[in-house]
Amino acid sequence: MTRVVEQGSAATPVKDFSECDRPELEAAMVAMGEPAFRGRQLFQWLHQRDVVTFDAMTDLPAPLRSRLQHQARISEPALETKQVSSDGTTKFLLRLADGRRVEAVYIPDTPNQTFCVSTQVGCAMACGFCLTGKMGLIRNLTAGEIAGQVRVLARETHLRTSPFNIVLMGMGEPLHNYDATMKALGILADPQGLAVAPRRVTLSTVGLVPAIKKLADEPVMPNLAISLHGTTDAQRDALVPINRKYGLEELMDTCRNFPLRRRGRITFEYVMLDGVNDTPDDARRLARLLDGIPGKVNLLPLNEADGIPFTRPSDARVNTFAKILSDAGVTVSVRKSRGRDIRAACGQLLVEGERRA
Ligand code: SAH
Repeated sequence: MTRVVEQGSAATPVKDFSECDRPELEAAMVAMGEPAFRGRQLFQWLHQRDVVTFDAMTDLPAPLRSRLQHQARISEPALETKQVSSDGTTKFLLRLADGRRVEAVYIPDTPNQTFCVSTQVGCAMACGFCLTGKMGLIRNLTAGEIAGQVRVLARETHLRTSPFNIVLMGMGEPLHNYDATMKALGILADPQGLAVAPRRVTLSTVGLVPAIKKLADEPVMPNLAISLHGTTDAQRDALVPINRKYGLEELMDTCRNFPLRRRGRITFEYVMLDGVNDTPDDARRLARLLDGIPGKVNLLPLNEADGIPFTRPSDARVNTFAKILSDAGVTVSVRKSRGRDIRAACGQLLVEGERRA
């Protein structure tokens, strides 16, 4: 299952076109003495028409195609395995050029079609309930690897020409790999490519305050989801270690000042851990924290796993918590765990055997 193609000879440095946004491809063509529009054609072949071999790019002159064979390549995450859950959720294990692997998940019919992609191999944030956090950070993904996951999933699910959503909720902390993530979103949003509207993209973060502030100025701005998970600093310090650096008050102030699209809202994700952060008092504190922020709460009853020292609360506890929030005027939903039987659910993405070098 390799569509990873076009290698130059070992001696020639080859440029990887999958790492380029459209302006960079145009500049690369100009640098090769070609008109800039060739860069746009290349970008369209790759991102809109899903063609990753130069040979098949029939509107490029043959001599250019042959030069490109030697001077450029188009790399792509290679599909290693695909597991389909009883609920249709599909987990893809993808191998990167250096042999490292990441997972990406297709979540059908929620009612949207959603691709959940990774931004890092592993993660440095070490949240106490998350399996990916146990891996530590192995490396950042490149922009091409992030956008490439979407291309591969769109192809595999035959959704390339239908509307789909993207959630940056796979392995890794997207704002800890800021530049590559933003560049990938730019590539994905490009009207000459897959043209994924920013309102269809949701970036989930553990709460890296300076990066959230920076995000507010981005031209391609995704929806924002915050992994809150606690209602006091003591509680959040213990569950989400980055809280020791950027505490709750600072985080909530940043959210309060975040520029939202018209009718836009920030999603607050709240993992529910039995007896830890799921009491009625927590629910009331959570409602107070959200005061003045156009937000909604997404409750994530813990997906349990070996090595995770917490348990999932009963449905009754989850419902009581949800009711207190909605009685306080907070919009609340409970995330249905999808793909738990294939370990594709939130916090369950872990590539066995990947260890820090
Ligand atoms: N690093 C980003 C992106 C990950 S999104 C972030 O933290 O937001 C994945 C979501 O699943 C996060 O809200 C994460 O806290 C949550 N999660 C992690 N482990 C989980 C588990 N075992 N059960 C349920 N949700 C979990």
